[in-house]
Amino acid sequence: MSSKVAIVTGSNKGIGFAIVRGLCKRFEGNVYLTSRDVRRGEQAVADLQKEGLNPKYHQLDITNAKSVEVFRDYLKEKYGGIDVLVNNAAIAFKGNATEPVAVQAEQTLFVNYFSTLSTCEILFPILRDGARVVNVSSSAGHLSNIPSKRLRDRLQDPTLTISELSGLMRDYVEAAKLGTQAAEWGNSSYVVSKVGLTALTKIQQRLLNDRDIKVNAVHPGYVDTDMSSHKGPLSIDDGAQAPLYLALDAPDSVRGEFVWYNKKIVSWADDKPTEKY
Ligand code: NAP
Repeated sequence: MSSKVAIVTGSNKGIGFAIVRGLCKRFEGNVYLTSRDVRRGEQAVADLQKEGLNPKYHQLDITNAKSVEVFRDYLKEKYGGIDVLVNNAAIAFKGNATEPVAVQAEQTLFVNYFSTLSTCEILFPILRDGARVVNVSSSAGHLSNIPSKRLRDRLQDPTLTISELSGLMRDYVEAAKLGTQAAEWGNSSYVVSKVGLTALTKIQQRLLNDRDIKVNAVHPGYVDTDMSSHKGPLSIDDGAQAPLYLALDAPDSVRGEFVWYNKKIVSWADDKPTEKY
């Protein structure tokens, strides 16, 4: 029961895989590589074992509450709590995707915002006091990407609740179904999902602050993965650096922040960094 435990969602490939690799090298406890598909997950574990690393494995589909509950019960029984949770799993439609915006909006928000939220709601009750949560956002999650000042003001309102934020995310999906989303929300469901995740991070920090839990959002950089169609110039290990910093090294004072791939805290609401990645 005493061993520490770290978990990375969606870690059979890409940045999540590299976060597991980095944690295996430095985290003093057990590290769980998780995947929605068991075969892909076990292959990834075997790949890390060939490097002399020793991740544990558990199935985890963030869109399936039962899958998350089974994992929570397993962790509670085996470890008594969670020390590090990295919410990395996400999807993104390609720029040339032919699915209508309404479909892209519903699916992207379902996975990246609502399923990450429900995963947190299931797992947060067993976070240990002092735990660290890293929400993998994106430069797309910078608030300046939302055209409407009214929405930006709502999203950064320090009294915004999770239920109100989820209401705004549902408003976006409904607007996309009506084809009226562009003026206020812009043209990218991925942007809205990651802005939502970053807003959620700030609310989660407020709710967990008393328990000394640190919750931060991170832009990992533009990384060479399937999601970026291998156009990102950074390696997956480069992309894991800022998430690993937040999981392991950031001072305890770093709370509810939006952290850039170079580990610098950036203002979420204004002054989006102009660096290329
Ligand atoms: P990726 O290579 O496509 O990997 C995404 C991972 O998430 C895969 O393991 C995927 O599993 C998993 N996943 C998707 N849906 C899931 C679900 N329902 N349950 C559990 N796992 C699920 O993408 P990546 O580039 O490494 O992205 C990792 C994170 O970084 C994402 O949050 C992404 O938004 C963010 N990010 C990436 C970039 C970039 O340039 N790549 C930039 C900014 C932010 P399957 O293999 O089963 O699909």
